Amino acid sequence: MEPFVYHKRDLPFFSLDGWQEQFPHLIVGISAKHPEEDWQMSNYAFHVGNNPDLVRENRRKLTQQLQVSFESWTCAEQVHGTKIKLVESEDRGKGGSNPHSAISSTDGLLTFENNLFLASFYADCVPLFFYSSDLDLIGVAHAGWKGTVQGIGRKMIDRMVQLGAKKNHIYVAIGPSIGMRCYEVDHRVIEPLQRELQPLNCYQNVYVKADRADRYFVDLKQANAQILLHAGVSIENLVQSERCTSCQTEFFHSHRRDQGNTGRMVAWIGKRGDEAGVS
Ligand SMILES: [Zn+2]
Repeated sequence: MEPFVYHKRDLPFFSLDGWQEQFPHLIVGISAKHPEEDWQMSNYAFHVGNNPDLVRENRRKLTQQLQVSFESWTCAEQVHGTKIKLVESEDRGKGGSNPHSAISSTDGLLTFENNLFLASFYADCVPLFFYSSDLDLIGVAHAGWKGTVQGIGRKMIDRMVQLGAKKNHIYVAIGPSIGMRCYEVDHRVIEPLQRELQPLNCYQNVYVKADRADRYFVDLKQANAQILLHAGVSIENLVQSERCTSCQTEFFHSHRRDQGNTGRMVAWIGKRGDEAGVS
C-alpha cells in the first residue's frame, strides 16, 4: 500500500499517515505540485524560479495549512553531498525566509528539537525520512544519485547510532522520486552505484540494462532501500513510496521530465511540542 496519502488543498501535499498515526506528535510529508497552476505557484525553493517573495508566500501558506509556525522552517543549501548536520535550537528558522541564512552545503538534517520543521527540496531525487523512537530523534536526507552512491542513507543511520539510537528503533520512509522506467543513465552513474552496492550483492533489483549500449534503468528508491537494510534498518520499519515524480505529472515537479524548467517540492518532518511555535 502506498504510504504517502494525497491531500487536495490550496497547496496540495502528501502525508505519511502510518507514522503520524503511530507517533501522533510527528508531522511528516511532501508537497505536491499544483495540478493546474504555473509551477511557481507550488515551488518551495529559492534557487529556482524568479520570485523569492512567492516562494516565501508558498512556504507561509503551507505551514499555515499544516498548523506549524513559519518561523520554525529550517533548511539547508543542498549540494548532492553527504554532510549531515545535527540541528539545534539556535538553528531554528535558518533558510526559512532568507536563502542566505540556510545551513550551508548540507544534505542530511537531524534534530531532537520540538517545534522545528526540517525542510528539504526535491524534483526527482529521493527524500529519506528518519525517526528514532527511542531517542525521539527526527531527520530528513536528500538522496539524488550522487547522495545515494555516496551512501547518505547509511551515513544517516551511522550518525543516529552515534547519537545513541538503537537500530531496531529506527524507522525510515523512502518518499516519492523518479521511478526506474523514467530514470535512464550511463556508466557514470552505474559504476559508483556498483561500488556502493558491491558488499550488498543486490544489483538485480536496483538496475537493469537498457537495449542501447551503455544505458541502464536505475531504481534509486530501491538502491536506497538496500543500502538502509544493509545498514541495519529492520525491514518492518522501512516503508517505500511507489510514486514516480516523472510519470505522475499532475502531482510532482520533475527536473528530468520538465528539462530543468520546474519547481521543487518540499519534504518535511517535525515534532509538535508543548511550547509555542507549532500548535
Ligand atoms: Zn516514471
